[in-house]
This record gives sequence, C-alpha cells and structure tokens, in this order.
Amino acid sequence: MPKIYFIDVTNRDGVQTARLGLSKLEKTMINVFLNRMGIFQSEFGFPTTTHESLYLQANLELADIGVLRPIRLQGWVRATVHDVDRAFALVPGITHLNLSMSTSNQMINAKFQGKRSRDDILKTVAEAVDAAKDHGAKTLGVNAEDASRTELDFLTRFGLVAKEHGADRVRYCDTLGYDNPFSIYDSTRALAENLGMPIELHCHGDLGMAVANSLAGARGVMDGGQDAYINTTVNGIGERAGNADLVATVLAITKSKGFAEKYQLGKAIDMTKAWKLAKFASYAFGVPIPVNQPGVGANAFAHASGIHADGVLKDPENYELYDFTELGRGEPELVETGREICSGEYGGLSGFSHLMGRMAVSFEDENQARSIVELVRYANVEAQKPLVKDELLFIAKYPQIARKLLTLTPPECAA
Ligand SMILES: [Zn+2]
Repeated sequence: MPKIYFIDVTNRDGVQTARLGLSKLEKTMINVFLNRMGIFQSEFGFPTTTHESLYLQANLELADIGVLRPIRLQGWVRATVHDVDRAFALVPGITHLNLSMSTSNQMINAKFQGKRSRDDILKTVAEAVDAAKDHGAKTLGVNAEDASRTELDFLTRFGLVAKEHGADRVRYCDTLGYDNPFSIYDSTRALAENLGMPIELHCHGDLGMAVANSLAGARGVMDGGQDAYINTTVNGIGERAGNADLVATVLAITKSKGFAEKYQLGKAIDMTKAWKLAKFASYAFGVPIPVNQPGVGANAFAHASGIHADGVLKDPENYELYDFTELGRGEPELVETGREICSGEYGGLSGFSHLMGRMAVSFEDENQARSIVELVRYANVEAQKPLVKDELLFIAKYPQIARKLLTLTPPECAA
C-alpha cells in the first residue's frame, strides 16, 4: 500500500510570508524540532540566496554529525540551470532539491509575457533536472506552480518530462488555494495514474481548505497507486492565508473518521513534540497561536458549558477526539512573574552565567563562557527578542556551528 510522508516547508514558504521571518538560529531550531518529531523532510531554505548560504551549510554540518538526522534537508530553487548551478556553487554539500516552475496558462502568459511557450517550459525543466543530476543531486522534486489551474494534459506532460530526466517526485501546488477536496482528489488521482511516480501536495488556505485538500489530495495520489508527500508549515504560517498546518494535518490523517484504516503514514510522527514546536514557532514568528487552533490552541481542550464540562469530567471521550497528552500538553510550565534576567545583544557575563546556571550548564573557564556570551549577543542582534532555553543550550553545545549561523556578510556592492 502507498504511504503518506510529510515535508515541512516552514523554512521556505513560512519565512517568505509578508511581515514575518525567522532568524537563522530560529530556522535551525525549527529543523531540530521537526527532526525530533520524525518529519521526513524539511524544505530548509533558499540555496541561491547569499544570506542563506552559511545557514544552509551549518545545517548540513548538523546532519553530518547526526544532530539533524534522519530528517532530510532539501533546498528550493527555480527550475533553471542558472539557479541549479548557483545552488551548488553557494552550498556545495546540498544533495536534495526541489525545482519550481509555473505551469498554468495564467502564469506562463502573464509572468513570462509571451517570452516562453509551454514547450520552452518543458525544455527548461528538463535542462534544470539534468543539471542537478550532473551536480550529484540525490533526490529531486519538480514543482508545478499553480498546478490546480493547469490543464491535466499539460501537467501530465510536465511530470513525464521531469520523470524521464530523473526527478523523484512532482509537487502538485495549489498555489492559490483554489482547489476543493473533490477537485484535488480527481486531479491528483489522475496525475498519479498518468505519471506512475510519487506526488507532493502543496495546499494553501485562501478558501480555508488547506488541510482538507491535503487529505483529499493524498488520498487521490494513493488511490492512484503512489506515495503521497504532504507539504505543511508549523501553525499554518505561509504565503497570504497560509499553508496546511502540520499538527492539524497529522491529526486529520490519524484521527479522522475511517481515514487511517486505509491511508497510513510511511514514517511514524511523534506528536508529543507538537506542543513545544508550535509554541516555539509562535514565539519565533511573533504570531500568537489562535485559541481555536486544532490540538495546540488554548481552547483545544477547554470546556465551560455545563453539559460539556459535566460530560468531559465523566469521560473525556464524550467531548474530546484525542487526549492532550498525545500532543505533549499537560506538563506544568514555569512562568516568571517577578524579577527576570533575559539574554540580549548588550548582555554581559554575569546575567548570562545566571541564565545558564539555572539550566545547570557550566563552563570550563571564563574564556569559554565569554566566547559563548558573544555568540548569544549576536543571536540577539538577529532575533531582536530574548533567546529561549533551547537556543541558549544549542549555542553552548555547538558554538562553532552557531558562529557560522550568525555570520552574515553581504557581498561587495558595485560602486
Ligand atoms: Zn506555497
């Protein structure tokens, strides 16, 4: 039976969202948390963007030393030879890529303004896949941007070209959130049958159906005989109205009526890590989790009305589909209500030693402590808010990698 895998795209779609962003350390922590949760792959950034280079390299180093393993780290580029060459030049260790190209008539005509025909699109994608293979890419996804507004015949031709040239998957992008569960099921099933290769689902929430469409699209792919790879973001943060929320989508697959009896995960996901990940992403993005967010919202397990409260006290299953402990909730959290020492870009050794001492971290000598304080200061310059415990521990444990993450050197300006 075909299976479902998760590719989280918070560090690509999430960070390209208007008004929102993450520091390189925050992006790294998201990868660390996704890995602990058992997510198959993280779309970890933009290998053609110069300010991402050291972050991407540092994360690949974390994979080499086993910290970011088994999660697969994959970069996103446009499907052109130029971008592929540049990706491998700037991030030589990269081995997994997704190559993106617009496929709808709307985008081909309106973005390329008559400069590219459909045949040009196919040729460009074929050349980009060939180039990535030549550079030694181990796995390649090819993204059909605006797939939901692309005729199935052309989408099939597009996928077959990608497959013939050695791509491993095609990404069906519902870029504008235009699909509904019925339409995406039909499209992805036909596409899976026509292509005979695994398909990714990339759904947006412009009509409030990103999670439902991901589920229906995955079912279409699997009924078509192929593995489905669902794209999600943490807390659903992504372009405009956002992407399919990671936690809600996993819950929908594993808990909704009858679905998991036939359609199963290819890799176990540890949902007890969900709460921590959602809270961290909320803090890092500066976007509160809505109170009614599935699983991780403040009201997800709250009951007030008489009939519900009485019912849930007698048996939680009366009014709860799943238990809060399954999401890693229920542990008491210490909230400081008095004096607080925070990390900051102008912080010093005394405050830092106090912070680390509370986490039972000690240093060999003052020099070592001073060098870590310096890194913490730089991390604060990027984040512009106090670091959380996991970030401080990460810097103390991997100072050389942290230094790389925090090094941002713009290229020379043309006079
Ligand atoms: Zn997107």
